[in-house]
Amino acid sequence: MNNPIGWGLIGASNVARQWIVDAIRAQPDSQILNVLSSSEERGARFATENGIPAYTTDIDAILTDGNVDAVYISTANQFHCSQTCAAASAGKNILCEKPVALGIDDARKMIAACHDAGVVLAVNHHLRCNAMHQKLWQLLQAGEIGRLNAVRVFHANFLPQALQGWRINDPNGGGLILDSTIHDIDTLRFLIGSNPTHVMAMTQGGRLAHDGVEDGIMVIMRFPGDVLVQIHGSYTVPFSEGGVEFYGSNGVLIGRDCMSQRAAGRLFMRNADGEKEIPVHHHNLYHYALAAFSNAVRGTGQPAATGEDGLAALAIALAIRESALTGRQVEVEIP
Ligand code: NDP
Repeated sequence: MNNPIGWGLIGASNVARQWIVDAIRAQPDSQILNVLSSSEERGARFATENGIPAYTTDIDAILTDGNVDAVYISTANQFHCSQTCAAASAGKNILCEKPVALGIDDARKMIAACHDAGVVLAVNHHLRCNAMHQKLWQLLQAGEIGRLNAVRVFHANFLPQALQGWRINDPNGGGLILDSTIHDIDTLRFLIGSNPTHVMAMTQGGRLAHDGVEDGIMVIMRFPGDVLVQIHGSYTVPFSEGGVEFYGSNGVLIGRDCMSQRAAGRLFMRNADGEKEIPVHHHNLYHYALAAFSNAVRGTGQPAATGEDGLAALAIALAIRESALTGRQVEVEIP
């Protein structure tokens, strides 16, 4: 028998509607009790459409409710810090969307607030929950391709019309780097098991985004062990397929169609014996993340990505942005 987990949703967002409501309900003894929106009308509609018994425009209605054990924060990025700190002070466990915050100081404040309150802080970097990436990690760990030499990440797609809002309009909270490249960074940290030491980047803008917001990027990074990594990311490339390629001294591992929210991805290994497909048994990425988070809340495990993971990914993303803005190579410091 599990302890029940009562949930409050902070943010009547698209990602909550599309993925997280279902993922919470897929967990044993987990119930969504309330949803916060800054708009009464949006909150009411979200609650009705998703079968949630209450909605509110006052965060305290959720934070003072003794039946709420955990909150999922998926508001616009500039609110993640203040809402996480308030939830931690109220003793709630927190699954926060990425980017964990917009700045390093805010992210550190969030980690400290959750640490002091003794609550779980997780950041929803979902790609490390993809079964294909997890299989790839196992093969890298087992040394199947020998010494790692270089990695390429392909994460270009066309931003759907419905998402062409703050992502392309907001110079503070929007832009490809903090929205999408940060997921590539987290995936690389997970797969390689370390942080890059140096980054360089060039961005594009103006195809979809405006006001100085980037909608395309090429990044190069150096990881420990002299491993070179390249990322291509974009909001403006239709018909592209996300993927990764890991080049080792004895072989190559190729992941195809593995950079989305879907339970998808095919893995291939190429070496002196030829090319073979490695079987992958897929699971829903968000169900996996919510299972890990629920276990952590019940004191039996760690979230898939912790607050510290969110902070490291943010620090690297900000170094990439600095490089794109200055045209210089930037040394990465993880606080
Ligand atoms: P949305 O734009 O759907 O939601 C963000 C906020 O915008 C909501 O909290 C809502 O405010 C407000 N909002 C929604 N619709 C309207 C509207 N019609 N008019 C005015 N405001 C509106 O964003 P996403 O769901 O795409 O992203 C939310 C967060 O989740 C971000 O931090 C993003 O980075 C992250 N994300 C993570 C993903 C992942 O797979 N890990 C995938 C997608 C996003 P209110 O709550 O006040 O109603």
